[in-house]
Amino acid sequence: MSIKIVPLGAGQDVGRSCILISFGGKNIMLDCGMHMGYNDERRFPDFSYITKNGNNINEMIDCLLISHFHLDHCGAIPYFTEMVGYDGPIYMTAPTKAICPLLLEDFRKITVDKRGDSNFFTAQMIKDSMKKVTIINLHESVKVCDDLEIKAYYAGHVLGACLFKITIGSNSIVYTGDYNMTPDRHLGAAWIDKCKPDVLITETTYATVIRESKRTREQTFLKKVHNCVLEGGKVLIPVFALGRAQELCILIESFWERMGLKIPIYFSTGMTSKANNIYKVFINWTNEKIKKNFVERNMFDFNHIKPWDSHYADNPGPMVLFASPGMLHAGTSLNVFKKWAPDPKNMVILPGYCVAGTVGNKVLAGDKIIEIDRFNKINVNLKVENLSFSAHADAKGIMQMIGMCEPKNVIFVHGEKEKMKYLARQIEDEIKIPVYYPPNGKTVTINTKRNIKVDLSVDFENSIIILRREKRIKMEQATKVLRIFFLSLLRMSR
Ligand SMILES: [Zn+2]
Repeated sequence: MSIKIVPLGAGQDVGRSCILISFGGKNIMLDCGMHMGYNDERRFPDFSYITKNGNNINEMIDCLLISHFHLDHCGAIPYFTEMVGYDGPIYMTAPTKAICPLLLEDFRKITVDKRGDSNFFTAQMIKDSMKKVTIINLHESVKVCDDLEIKAYYAGHVLGACLFKITIGSNSIVYTGDYNMTPDRHLGAAWIDKCKPDVLITETTYATVIRESKRTREQTFLKKVHNCVLEGGKVLIPVFALGRAQELCILIESFWERMGLKIPIYFSTGMTSKANNIYKVFINWTNEKIKKNFVERNMFDFNHIKPWDSHYADNPGPMVLFASPGMLHAGTSLNVFKKWAPDPKNMVILPGYCVAGTVGNKVLAGDKIIEIDRFNKINVNLKVENLSFSAHADAKGIMQMIGMCEPKNVIFVHGEKEKMKYLARQIEDEIKIPVYYPPNGKTVTINTKRNIKVDLSVDFENSIIILRREKRIKMEQATKVLRIFFLSLLRMSR
């Protein structure tokens, strides 16, 4: 039997994750993401690859599996279902289903309402596409159709993220989406059983990095914030309400406690109610400590961190503010940025990525004068820091994942080519399993060995029945295979 894998997006690249796998007569799409770096047709995966020979999309794809709510993994769903016309099953976890439409609508507002992009989905299309989603629980095996079965495992990374195992007959594939092998302050680490899949398709964002320890990164962040406020500056930390916000709030709260600091820290209230509700509903997806604490208080119930009031922006003296949205494109974070940006004493700490066209993107590019609109220009004199706290597996983590599930082949996606090449060589040398890293549109074909399990305690006739059922072959073929097998056993025993 052969397994075919082709990335339509995220092949030797990060962005618009979309991998097509074909085996056992079924075609499965893994993730359906958007490329945040483009605003032309390269924004979405190249679905014409599927329909190019006049193929009907619904006859070609048996199911779509979504790993988590980041837009580079789910951002093309409304386009794929409402504009390309896919209406087959879509599977994701409950937290992903709750958060994905919020992010999609937020992004649509930036690109369509603010930037005026065309050929984009509407708010209604987001709602309609979500109606087609079926929820999958962790460790639940779901039979999609015939003998195609899927199972979800915990991936860490962000609330609701999962790994998928896809099984047809005796063959299986594991797809990771994004994951991390070390727990963080509010989530646990990825886990899967030793399922020995034929293929492991893994992300490789940090393929060549044994990342500076988490502790070092956190210390750098705290030192920067601390130095700035000690010199009387104001620190603005734009965040999305879920994920990074919780990590950083917990981190800074304990630092303030330890140091006995009295400088005020605030969070903009806009982000709390929705996020709190989501964490309340999906508390089982977080780590043990959060689960315990949450009984007594909610995610934003801190001793040092207080709700923000827009009047505080003009208060003299140092302060720290967590405010949404994360890319400085609207709302509280942008309003405060306008006020604080001209003063070199102040600081803004941006996340790893900001969409082209947003103020955050221009700030990261080093622009010193930013035009908000025709009448408003901001002089950017404050210190700009770019700290990524996104949780991905590093080289060590990828090796751990391979050790955990023991695949027969590995496919790299969601990373840079050179880094993939380097790690691939290392794995082939050390673990002796083949590694592939196809670019978009290039198919990798893997021929699986026929591993036939025969229980020697059963007789020849029963073995034939088992073999025919497992391999779906004719009587003569089964007899022939078994005769050869038993003869070789006899020869060995002599
Ligand atoms: Zn992600």
